[in-house]
Amino acid sequence: MQIIYFDNNATTKIAPQVLVKMNETYQMPLNNSAVHYFGRLATKFIEDARKEVRKLLNAQNYEVIFGSSATEATNTLFQGCNAKKILISQIEHASAYSCRPHEKEVSEIKVLDNGVVDLEDLKLHLEKISDPNFLVSVMFANNETGALQPVEEISKLVHQKGGLFHCDIVQGVGKVPLDLEKINADFASISAHKINGPQGVGALLMRKGLDVKPLIVGGKQEKSKRAGTMNTAGIAGFGEACKITTAKISEYENVKKLRALLESEIKKISGDNVKIFCEETPRLPNTCFVALKNCDAQTQLINFDINGICVSAGSACSSGTVAGSRILKSMGVDSAFSTSAIRISLAPENTKEEVDKFIKVWSEFYERTKK
Ligand code: PLP
Repeated sequence: MQIIYFDNNATTKIAPQVLVKMNETYQMPLNNSAVHYFGRLATKFIEDARKEVRKLLNAQNYEVIFGSSATEATNTLFQGCNAKKILISQIEHASAYSCRPHEKEVSEIKVLDNGVVDLEDLKLHLEKISDPNFLVSVMFANNETGALQPVEEISKLVHQKGGLFHCDIVQGVGKVPLDLEKINADFASISAHKINGPQGVGALLMRKGLDVKPLIVGGKQEKSKRAGTMNTAGIAGFGEACKITTAKISEYENVKKLRALLESEIKKISGDNVKIFCEETPRLPNTCFVALKNCDAQTQLINFDINGICVSAGSACSSGTVAGSRILKSMGVDSAFSTSAIRISLAPENTKEEVDKFIKVWSEFYERTKK
């Protein structure tokens, strides 16, 4: 059976050019701490990749600190920044949402029912702040709903109050135009495996002149901001992925058309029993977060899996119980829908034939299970 992969917000297929590059670097004993030939070569691979990351994000004025993931990048910042207070939105990815350093006060900014961070609530939080030693972290696009966040406006409000702004740009990169200078972010987290690069590589971007204490201490790699022998092959692959990402962005026009087809067909089939979240909100062109009323997400996932289609749930299964999506709960969605949401996330590699198959499987399932 041909497997259809519609879970590209979880991870993407590694690009052939990335594999070629990584294979080339894996042939050599590369450690950039060494002073010999291979040390210099490792440095070249890493610095070339750094240039590509900067180029992709218009981040010439940013330090790029390579690490294992976007999760590590965000943790490094939250743990290692000088801020005494951190404001995060209710819809942040777990990598930010779960990171609550003991010595820092963390507060949550509310979200509107359209999936967008509530700017009025942010303003209320900011009014109460007297010490400018604070950090605000809001993602560029939500990984479940795809909803784009007003990050430029947030950044402006934060700076007016003297604070610093961090943006988790993981899901936006490559899918929509994204420019760090335009956002005016002080920090950003990025992950290679969401843009056809390897897993286990990410970076923290930090405006030049700012500082952060390392999360991982030891050697002096990455200007003492992240210790440990560097993942040269992974970083080289990340650089290669950045190169192809810019070229691929125009392909998302077609991805958007495929999503429109998928959404209009499932609405035709299931009518009022289906709810597409953030449908009217500016969102990523590839993401469809949809719920079939009172039909739990796991049952739907299993049915798609049996039919060779990979999608994911917006809900986490813990100790045998299905907990509804935290993101949907924060948007005020009731449990009849929040426990039955599945996420379909497309990529330029997906085809109309694959979407047609998805619709067929949806339709058969709906007819079988409708009450
Ligand atoms: N931020 C967002 C919005 C994500 O979607 C993810 C991954 O799912 C992460 C952060 C974490 O990225 P990584 O897998 O590199 O830790």
